[in-house]
Amino acid sequence: MRYQRSTKLFKEAKEFIPGGVNSPVRAFKAVGGTPIFIKRAKGAYLYDEDNNKFIDYISGWGPMILGHAHPKVIKFIIETTKNGTSFGTPTELESKIAKLAIKMVPNIDQIRFVNSGTEACMSAIRLARGFTGKEKIIKFSGCYHGHSDSFLIQSGSGAVTYGNPSSPGVTQGSAKDTLIAEFNNLENVSDIFNKNKNEIAALIIEPVAGNMGCILPNKGFLKGLRTLCNDNKALLIFDEVMTGFRLSKGGAQELFGVKSDIVTFGKVLGGGLPVGAFAANRDIMSFLAPKGGVYQAGTLSGNPLAMIAGYQTLKILDEDPNIYKRLEKKTKRLEEQLRDISKINKVEHQINRIGSMLSIHFTNTPVVNFTTSKKG
Ligand code: PMP
Repeated sequence: MRYQRSTKLFKEAKEFIPGGVNSPVRAFKAVGGTPIFIKRAKGAYLYDEDNNKFIDYISGWGPMILGHAHPKVIKFIIETTKNGTSFGTPTELESKIAKLAIKMVPNIDQIRFVNSGTEACMSAIRLARGFTGKEKIIKFSGCYHGHSDSFLIQSGSGAVTYGNPSSPGVTQGSAKDTLIAEFNNLENVSDIFNKNKNEIAALIIEPVAGNMGCILPNKGFLKGLRTLCNDNKALLIFDEVMTGFRLSKGGAQELFGVKSDIVTFGKVLGGGLPVGAFAANRDIMSFLAPKGGVYQAGTLSGNPLAMIAGYQTLKILDEDPNIYKRLEKKTKRLEEQLRDISKINKVEHQINRIGSMLSIHFTNTPVVNFTTSKKG
């Protein structure tokens, strides 16, 4: 394949954009080569500026669950655009998508829309602190909850790809309120709660970790966290930015039958446009401005283009009874073929998979937390 135009465009981008990209993983540093500049996408395929065609296993990092340029979603985006793109006032559409999301996801009464997963997680933490009157939070090493200060401590995703899971620029003040636990280690979490009695506002977790490879929760782990949070009057926050509307209609809460207090969303919820959200029961959400004192706002939050793309995407997911079965079948096939290729070539490997989330690690050790994920 030739990448002449991509190479040229990357060179130019580096002049004007730090590292040539607007999000670090796009720079291809971890995998080598030149980032491919995409011109067009349709269904399962991406087409780059050099007219190469690729099968897309990334799906925009999660949002494009229906494939690229789904005709129905695109049609509604175009129609909506004709009536204006941002009003800074409420619209009926916001209640429509809110109602649908609340129907699909268990344990939530109200939802607030924002513009990214980062915003959703950052706001969820503030809400938890406001609700409990406590300051510390527990997060797991290798989990990623966006790039806000309290989360860039031993985080996964791009932060770890660049060998710096804790970012310069995060103050010691922010870092001291974030306590780090090990994924799949209940004893460790229990210890942290015991050493910080009455100080922990919330525990935030990717219920299936997707930012240090794909790591499934051990049997009983999420239920154990639920109990520890109850015992310590801390809120359990499921960061379902990746798992939400993807592992099932109701995300990880539905799949594992564990109730979280606050749940955050992004990716699929926006159907390819910038949307995040956080949701909880009425009591917790009543602490949020303008009803309560916990402040959170956004000029473009709930804007009609993002809302229509999200609404149409959720509607398709809600109405197609077989969509998650099809996703499971396709990803299982991918898993089996990766196993076959690895065996034929005698490559040590571990494949972790649940539904459409899959990762391969080149190691013999089972991958169950951040330490083991770094082995291969
Ligand atoms: N939480 C999780 C679990 C994520 O995977 C991500 C993004 N990869 C985020 C939060 C942050 O979302 P965004 O990039 O939309 O800010």
